[in-house]
Amino acid sequence: MAGARKQSEVKMLQTAQHFFDVAAKRLNLEEGLIVLLRHPKRKLIVNFPIKMDDGSVTNFEGYRVQCHAITGPGKGGIRYHPETNLEEVEALAILMNWKCAVSGLPFSGAKGGVRCNPEKMSVGEIERVTRRYAAEIAVILGPDVDIPAPDVFTGPREMAWIVDTISMHHHGEFMPGWVTGKPKLLGGSEGREAATGRGGYFVLLETLEHLQFKLEGARVVVQGFGNVGSSIARFCVAGGAKVIAVSDVRGGVANAKGIDPVALKEHERRTGSVVDFKNTEAITNKDLLETDCDILVPSAIEDQITKANAHKIRAKVILELANGPTTMEADKILHERGIFVIPDILANSGGVTVSYFEWVQDRYRYFWDADRVDERLEQFMTEAFRRVLQTHLRDKVDMRTAAYLTAVSHVAEAARARGLYA
Ligand code: NAD
Repeated sequence: MAGARKQSEVKMLQTAQHFFDVAAKRLNLEEGLIVLLRHPKRKLIVNFPIKMDDGSVTNFEGYRVQCHAITGPGKGGIRYHPETNLEEVEALAILMNWKCAVSGLPFSGAKGGVRCNPEKMSVGEIERVTRRYAAEIAVILGPDVDIPAPDVFTGPREMAWIVDTISMHHHGEFMPGWVTGKPKLLGGSEGREAATGRGGYFVLLETLEHLQFKLEGARVVVQGFGNVGSSIARFCVAGGAKVIAVSDVRGGVANAKGIDPVALKEHERRTGSVVDFKNTEAITNKDLLETDCDILVPSAIEDQITKANAHKIRAKVILELANGPTTMEADKILHERGIFVIPDILANSGGVTVSYFEWVQDRYRYFWDADRVDERLEQFMTEAFRRVLQTHLRDKVDMRTAAYLTAVSHVAEAARARGLYA
């Protein structure tokens, strides 16, 4: 099951490194620091056998990548996907690194994955893969070392199995601080599920205030209607905007008068897709991205806005809730066209911010109510946005460059303060 390189993963890695390079050059970083910060510290590949339900044995490949732990332990999700590989996990670890830094969280970036297809596995098989993978990578994990979380095709259930596995390796003592995104019963936080959408909404409100543009009546288009896409659609409508088009992997729906995201979620739960929702017209994902609107919210997968469609985007603001939805070539075109892009490492950092709150609560064994979580999330997102905006205005650079400048200078300064060991 060796990892073949998919074009999109090569792109995501190149894109993540490209934006770092731009910031490093502008900051005039020392050569040694560039080498240190551009590449992860550790890349672990694990290969392990699992007994399947039919009695056969299958070997799985898993990964954990950690960036340099300059400002804190590693933090990042675990992805289960048939096509995940080391390059993809590395790119996502790098994005996590700058995301944590831009938000001022005391973490470094990390990410993990197992190359498997959970849609074709039984619950028992997924559990055995999860427990064995956790045991394999536990050598480089820990509440002060690296704390995983859910990502694609993993969730609170897998995090609970990981806590149990790690606890069994500690003579049965309860070890909730090793992962976040757990069920609340096992030390999970209030507010985690909607955190990325809610965090994105706070940043959007700040953006609109800066641009002197009202959310009320604004036309919003959302690509992807999973956890993140459905939450942001709900927040925008509650704030007075109109969601005029939404899509998922099977296609999209549009209605210029507005779509009710709560009723749409209900339809999606019942039918498995947003397609064929009442009082809407069908729209392809391609046309959806090019729809005339005020705010476009990519909330699905990477590499959706490319040099092929960047000049056709008709949004005024792009809120990047997906990781890496815009390629580096497209980013340049959007900037030249005056479209205000709120970059992924800033826009979607609400999830890791509430993961940080969960980690803090677990350490104290003292849990906050939902209002306190939301209030602190608003504070963190607003402060992160204002730091980036200040750099954007001061250095006259686009918001993505400003976000990378903020993040890279923060970590570089910490690395200089620590100095060189030996
Ligand atoms: P999810 O699996 O809940 O939802 C993904 C949605 O995207 C689904 O509606 C799916 O049908 C749709 N989709 C998949 N492929 C598509 C395609 N080719 N075209 C159009 N739609 C497609 O995932 P999620 O948790 O909502 O995450 C969405 C994005 O946000 C991902 O890029 C993820 O990395 C990023 N993100 C998520 C979080 C989080 O807290 N969940 C945090 C930060 C970033």
